[in-house]
Amino acid sequence: MKRVYLDNNATTPLAPEVFEAMRPYWLEDYGNASSIHWFGQRAKAAMEKAREQVARLLKARASEIAFTSGGTESDNAAIFGIVEAARGERKHVVTTTIEHHAVLNTVQALEKRGVSVTYVRVGASGVVDPQDVESALRPETVLISVMHANNELGTIQPLEEIGRLARERDIYFHTDAVQTVGKVPVDVDKLGVDLLALSAHKLYGPKGVGALYVRRGTIVRPLMHGGHHERDRRPGTENVAGIVGLGAAAEIALAHPPEEADRLAALRDRLEAGTLERVPRVAVNGERTRRLPTTTNLAFDYIEGEGFVIAMDLRGIACSTGAACSSGSLEPSHVLSAIGLKPEQARASIRFSLGRFNTSEDIDTTLEILPAVVEQLRSVSPHYRKEAVSAQHSAVSKNG
Ligand SMILES: *Cc1c(COP(=O)(O)O)cnc(C)c1O
Repeated sequence: MKRVYLDNNATTPLAPEVFEAMRPYWLEDYGNASSIHWFGQRAKAAMEKAREQVARLLKARASEIAFTSGGTESDNAAIFGIVEAARGERKHVVTTTIEHHAVLNTVQALEKRGVSVTYVRVGASGVVDPQDVESALRPETVLISVMHANNELGTIQPLEEIGRLARERDIYFHTDAVQTVGKVPVDVDKLGVDLLALSAHKLYGPKGVGALYVRRGTIVRPLMHGGHHERDRRPGTENVAGIVGLGAAAEIALAHPPEEADRLAALRDRLEAGTLERVPRVAVNGERTRRLPTTTNLAFDYIEGEGFVIAMDLRGIACSTGAACSSGSLEPSHVLSAIGLKPEQARASIRFSLGRFNTSEDIDTTLEILPAVVEQLRSVSPHYRKEAVSAQHSAVSKNG
């Protein structure tokens, strides 16, 4: 069976060049980057090269990049780090209702410690209104945390406007850019962010490694205590091979032609339009224009998302009901609830996320299989049968 992977927002495949770049750092250049001998210096040099590569992708300085274990740690380190370092009465954080759990659960942990948090709501668009962020600000606000692109909807948030608000008021601004780095241009100065989280495995790099950008002069209290690694921002012997992989992935992303985003957007649009054309009663969740080129989230009336994902998987197509970390949970997605979907609509929603290795044939295959899967699931839905019968009745009475 030919398999089609349409779950790139959950994780991307490792690029073969990235694997090749990492290989020597497991087998030959295995030194500890803190050691002063040849082995150590080889590892250190590789790590510093990767820091340059990541910095270049973000238009930042190498000294502003700290390597971490991934997006979740970077989000935690940014949010805890700023709030813990804040003095006096500045104990208010502004975030949104559509953040990833790496941010939401972190600010919730802060709430238990007496920090107050305002969750800015979003409308059906899935895009935050900067005016709502402005209204939420208080004199004691220390941090704004707004994600760059939402992982479920793909919607891109107006960071530049929010960055300006933060700058005017001397408030730190953090963004979870895990879904955008490597997919759309990211420039930390243009966005006006002080802290930015990214993760290697969302840009064709290895799992378990990421980075936190920390603007020069920003003081963050480290999450963990240990050695003086990463300029005292993150202790522990560095994951050298992983970091080299992240660097290589960043370099490839930067060298990628801009047409690649257009190619993916065209494939995504064909999948979306083809589905809307072939299947009745489907709606696109969230704003369609301010969106990652790779992502579409569709609500199929009368289906149950989990059943759809399993039925598609049996036919070789991998998609998801939303965030991978929430899969298997009976709670409807907090993002889809936040944009106003009813629980049954949220549970009937499916995310398709494309990536570099998807082809036009993948979309053909999906469009061949998908309508029959939806029809099969609907045919066993009692609500669907009831509606179909009553629609027939009203057609009959109209004709009669
Ligand atoms: C995947 C993801 C994370 C978590 O990153 P990990 O490296 O898996 O910890 C955080 N935020 C967003 C938006 C994500 O998509």
